[in-house]
Amino acid sequence: MRKKIVAANWKMNMTQAESARFVESLLVDLGDILDVEVVIIPPFTAIARVTESLGKAQNIKVGAQNMHWERNGAFTGEISSALLRDLFVRYVVLGHSERRSLFGETDEMVNLKVRAAHEAALRPIVCVGETLEQREKGKVEKVLSTQLRGSLADLGEKELLETVIAYEPVWAIGTGKVATAAQAQEAHAFIRGTLSKISDETTADKIRIQYGGSVKPDNARELMSQADIDGALVGGASLDPRSFAQIVKAAQKEE
Ligand code: PEP
Repeated sequence: MRKKIVAANWKMNMTQAESARFVESLLVDLGDILDVEVVIIPPFTAIARVTESLGKAQNIKVGAQNMHWERNGAFTGEISSALLRDLFVRYVVLGHSERRSLFGETDEMVNLKVRAAHEAALRPIVCVGETLEQREKGKVEKVLSTQLRGSLADLGEKELLETVIAYEPVWAIGTGKVATAAQAQEAHAFIRGTLSKISDETTADKIRIQYGGSVKPDNARELMSQADIDGALVGGASLDPRSFAQIVKAAQKEE
């Protein structure tokens, strides 16, 4: 059984004070949730404040939105795995489509980062997904396969098991256009099939694959009830603690 994982990607939003207020409100709703893994992914500047505000609530983890593959050195403006570990970060989002399209990240760069994350015992959330043009040209499988094979190159079984994949169709991110549950499930099943070719079926069966792209409280349950959808990576709707909490609750098994 794969434990569902729901993560809040705040992107370039949330001051320290806003982050603390968010956590305070979230703990009221999710303070004792144990059957879903919850991850908050603030901007670097609010990571320490989120960790401090979470206090003893060890059921909620903290992530980062990016990192460089070198551990330290002359890389002005960059953040490394060692610096993230120093802030008690557990997860790191790598290869988000905004990093790929706005900052020129390639699969090779994502792979360097994924391997550096594992070396530092950080768990990467590796994002893959096609653009609308690629979907309309029938290239979804080719794009996903290339991104997965490139980003996950040279990982061993243990590292793959500690990697989370996020399927985020680029046309659904921040657009309000959500993939239908059937479209998302089809892509997730293809991703799992590709993971089984990269490793083996037993390993692929244990790897969690999140869906991301305009997830909201009203579409979250249907998406996350699909066989191969193991949680959500949430952007816009994660900025409001009540709506994020509702999405996390939608990942819980119905009584
Ligand atoms: C994201 O950027 O990871 C994302 C899924 O954003 P949104 O939920 O706003 O579409």
